Amino acid sequence: MTAVNSVAVVTGAQRGIGYGIAQVLHNRGYRVVLVDIDEAGVQAASATLAGSAWRAVDVRDYAAVASAVSSIEEDIGPIAVLVNNAGINRDRMFHRMSEAEWDAVIAVNLKGYFNWARHVAPGMRARRAGRIINIASASWQGNVGQANYAASKAGVIGLTKTLAKELAPFQITVNAICPGFIETPMTRAMPEAAFQQMLQKIPMGRIGTPEDVGRVVAFLASDDSQYVTGEVIAVGGGLVL
Ligand code: NAD
Repeated sequence: MTAVNSVAVVTGAQRGIGYGIAQVLHNRGYRVVLVDIDEAGVQAASATLAGSAWRAVDVRDYAAVASAVSSIEEDIGPIAVLVNNAGINRDRMFHRMSEAEWDAVIAVNLKGYFNWARHVAPGMRARRAGRIINIASASWQGNVGQANYAASKAGVIGLTKTLAKELAPFQITVNAICPGFIETPMTRAMPEAAFQQMLQKIPMGRIGTPEDVGRVVAFLASDDSQYVTGEVIAVGGGLVL
C-alpha cells in the first residue's frame, strides 16, 4: 500500500498520541482525516497539517460513526488505514469504582473501536486491502487503579486478534500497539509524584513521545508490514518486558 494520497483516519487526533500519529502519517504522504469529539480542537489541529481533513465525531455513537465513514469515503476517498486511538481513563481503586466510571471507559475505549472497525471493514473487504491499527496500552496486563481501563485495553487486544483472523483472507491486517508511558495531556494530568515514579520504571530512561508511537503506526500502515497481522507491539522503551 503506497502512502501517497492513501486516506488514513485517526481517531482522538486533536492532541496527544493521536495528533502525533496524524503528523507522522501526514509527513509520509497520507491524506489524513483527523477525528475527535472536540470540534474546535480537531479543526485547529487539522489546520496545522496542510491538506488534511477533519470530522467531529463521538466514537461512542454507532450511527454517527457510520455516517462519518460514508462521508469520508464519498468526499475524500476509500479509507486505506484506520487508527483507533480515541481513549479516556477514569482511574480509581476497584472497590471505589462507580458504575459510571466503568461504563464511560468501556464505551470510548472498546465500543468506540468496535464502531469504527465495524463501519470501515466492509469497504476494506470489498477492496481486498486495508490496515486497522488499534492503540491499546501496556496496562492491558493489569494495573492497580485501572480495572476499567485495563479491561477495555485487553478487550481491544481480543478484538484485534479476532479481526486479524477474520480479515486476513481479504489481505487486511489488524494489529495493536501498546504505548508505555507517553507525554500527553492524559499523562500530564497525573499527580507529579506518580508521574516521576513512572519515569523511574522506564529502562530507556525517558518518557515516550507521540511521534515514537506514530512511527510504529507508519510501519504497520506500510507495505513493509504486509505479512504482519494480529500482533501486539509494545512501544514503551522497555517498560514492560
Ligand atoms: P489524550 O487524552 O491526550 O487524547 C485523547 C483524545 O481522544 C482527545 O483529543 C479527546 O478529545 C479524544 N476523545 C475522547 N473521547 C472521545 C470520544 N468519545 N470521541 C472522539 N474522541 C474522543 O490521550 P492520549 O494520552 O493521547 O491517549 C491516546 C490513546 O493512547 C488512548 O487510547 C490511550 O488509552 C492510549 N495510551 C496512552 C498512553 C500514554 O502514556 N499517554 C499510554 C498507553 C496508551
